[in-house]
Amino acid sequence: MRLPDGVQRRSFDGDEALATRGEPVYGEPTDGAWRRWNPRRSKLAAVLDRGVDTGLEGDETVLYLGAAAGTTVSHVADFAGPTYAVEFAARPARDLLEAAAPRPNLFPLLKDARRPDSYAHVVEPVDVVVQDVATRGQAQVALRNRQFLRDDGRLLLSVKARSEDVTADPAAVFDEVLAALTDGYEVLSTARLSPLHDDHLAVVARPD
Ligand code: SAM
Repeated sequence: MRLPDGVQRRSFDGDEALATRGEPVYGEPTDGAWRRWNPRRSKLAAVLDRGVDTGLEGDETVLYLGAAAGTTVSHVADFAGPTYAVEFAARPARDLLEAAAPRPNLFPLLKDARRPDSYAHVVEPVDVVVQDVATRGQAQVALRNRQFLRDDGRLLLSVKARSEDVTADPAAVFDEVLAALTDGYEVLSTARLSPLHDDHLAVVARPD
């Protein structure tokens, strides 16, 4: 499967790994201007590494929900266009601001992704919503943010089963989340991310 423009497989100390071009953020290995994008630390990297068809070509406008300290979203901003990064916890958001400093296309928003009305005045229509909030109500967050997605856009969702219910069978949780998503999305593909990310399901969907 084709990688987005701006994402390459490169060798780091003899290991082939995904890489993007940009300022290092979290002490990751570099090779000239390229920085290693570790699939163990990033669900989106795991998805791309596995060859899932995300539809990403590079240069898209992105809304990223659950940006944390900026590990993954900084790589996204390296190959994408304008990238809006929503994170509601103040502590990781400080590191996110640092990751954004050398990236003029990365816009951190200290906001709650369950309340898109609070950032609707800032975010333009986007080609891609990436969601990794790891919190209860993951389908609802995706549905509430569907309003930003262009008709031909893509939702790239990472569902963490234990965030919905620590005791339930992950497969049952995934079924529930996928059923709830049909209120606004057509699911195109799914992939379990074990063993890199246990009990996580990657979902590619489009607005319905
Ligand atoms: N995506 C990040 C990465 O790969 O670098 C890791 C994200 S971490 C698994 C989940 C993040 O989602 C946490 O930083 C948490 O504070 C944030 N989060 C959870 N619920 C949220 C919400 N309703 N609005 C915004 N951020 C939220």
